[in-house]
Order: sequence, then C-alpha cells, then structure tokens
Amino acid sequence: MKLRYHLFELKLRHTFTIARGSRDADQIVFVELEHDGITGYGEAAPAMRYGETTESVIDFLKKVNVEKIADPFSIERNVQYLESLSQKDYSARTAIDIAMHDWVGKAMGVPLHKILGLSPDDTPKTSFTIGIDRPEVLKQKIKEAEEYPLLKIKLGGENDEEIMKTVRSVTDKVLRIDANEGWKTREVALEKILWLQGEGVEFIEQPMPADQLLDTAWVRERVSIPIIADENVVTMYDVPKLRGAFDGINIKLMKCAGLHNALKMIYTAKSMKMKVMMGCMVESSVAISAAAQLSPLLDYADLDGNLLITNDPFTGVTARDGQILLQAKPGIGVTPKGDM
Ligand code: MG
Repeated sequence: MKLRYHLFELKLRHTFTIARGSRDADQIVFVELEHDGITGYGEAAPAMRYGETTESVIDFLKKVNVEKIADPFSIERNVQYLESLSQKDYSARTAIDIAMHDWVGKAMGVPLHKILGLSPDDTPKTSFTIGIDRPEVLKQKIKEAEEYPLLKIKLGGENDEEIMKTVRSVTDKVLRIDANEGWKTREVALEKILWLQGEGVEFIEQPMPADQLLDTAWVRERVSIPIIADENVVTMYDVPKLRGAFDGINIKLMKCAGLHNALKMIYTAKSMKMKVMMGCMVESSVAISAAAQLSPLLDYADLDGNLLITNDPFTGVTARDGQILLQAKPGIGVTPKGDM
C-alpha cells in the first residue's frame, strides 16, 4: 500500500467572512491511497478553530504506518488505529478515511451510498452559504445563488439587522442562519432568535459560544425554531452531551474524523430524536462528494464547499436546483480533471 499527499490551495470566488474573520483562499491536503492497482482519493481541510493546519495534517500523515491499514476493507479497525495515533488531527484522519471508503467502493465497483444501503433518490437539497458582507456584495451573491432554493446566511457580527434587511429586500427564499458563536449573552441570543423567527428562518445554527451550553439550553426553552449545534459538536463523543440544549447536530467530516464516525453520529443523533445536518468547510469535490454519499440520511444538507471555489481539481457530485445528484460511479464518485 502507498500513501501519497500534496498541498493544494483552493481559491475562493468571493472573500469569505464569518463571525471569526475573513479569507480569500484555503489550504488543503489531498491524499491518495494506492493498493492492488486501485487509487482511493481523500482530502483534509484543516480548521484553526479545531487546532489544525496543513503542517499538522502532514505531520500526522507522516506518523501513519501504512502496514497497519493494509486491508482497506477493515475500516473499523483502521479508524481505531488512526484514533490511537491522535484523538485530534480530525481532518488528517478524515483524509485517510475518505480515501479508504473510495478505495473500497472502487474495489467492489459500487458507489459508496449503495454499499451503505442508501438510495440516490433520497438526497436532500443543499443550502448555499452567503458570508457576511456589505449590502451591495450581499445582493450580488444572492443573485449568483439564484438556482439554490435554500440560503444559509452568516450572522453573529455587529450588523445582523442590516444584513437581514438587505437579504429580505432581494429574496423571499427559506433562510438558515449561522451565528458561528457570535451572540455572547443568552439575552442577546434570545432577542435575535425571537426576531429571526418572524423572518422566514428555518433554523439557527450555533447561536452562542460552545462553552455556554447551559445558556444555549435556556434560550432553546424560549424559542420555537430548531437550534442546531456546530461548534458544540466536534466528534461522536459530543453528541450525548447536547441533550436538552440543541434540537440537532451539524456533522462535518473534517471535525469528526471521517465518514465512518459520521455514520455513528448520524445514528446516535437519530436515536436521540435529534435532527441531522451535514455541513462542510471550504472543500474540493473530493470531500463534498464523500459527505454527499451519506446525504440520503440527512434532514438538512449544507454541502456547498466546492461551489464556493474557482479551481476545483476534481469533478464529482453536482446539484440541480439545489438537490444533490449522486454519481453512479464507484466509491465517492470523483474524477481528477487533470494530472494530479
Ligand atoms: Mg456553522
């Protein structure tokens, strides 16, 4: 078995601003797992919020002894081995997890969603994310997102009211709101959510800082729309802690260390009668197509990372009027556009 990796810079269509800051490009790491003449593709999109950089991803990949994951079919065992190397390094572990799943699908000649017993007819619609911006730019972005029926609006800064006024001046689409921990007291969070309930909003993602779980529970008792955890739910071990504070979880492959753990989280959340959402970082079609394989299990999808970039080196999952279209190709269904 051979494990190869290389750095890549994903260029963003627009400067992307959320409550934590702005950026124009994101560094990721592509992984290739080659075994028996078959290559599985994977991707790590590290986030500083979770203590990772491309350097930490590469440091982790260097520690991996490929002999320990020599049978890609033994995913549970291989994932346990990767976790034994590090409880963190989430996106680095994700890259190998995706590559293993891609390899298995290709070895069997079957799309991953089929192996998991999921129908491509059951995919949800993905939202399209609109970052924090000046009114003119917001209007332009909403125009560019015309084909997507669901918009995810980033709030949590100083000008929430201005943003919502601008958005509602140009569209009456269903909105999902992500405050990215931006509302710092329970009173502010409550006031914002009560206001947004009247603005055609479907749910609120991570209204308050992750270390204010009790405050979040206090707010949740006083509002009627679902509150979804994002920064509060990193790995599967976090899910049971959220009972009473959140109505659902936003799973991201880059937080939970891959598809295998994401599946465990999905079924745990469902057993707790919580809603399940999958989101993403800024990612190429590799990681988005991987996450999309699980999308028939979701209540809400926010898998637009590859739609926000201009230099995706792969083709894979697409969307029609927002609905996720899974490819009938083996594995995660991606093809490199040129020579990797
Ligand atoms: Mg979020």
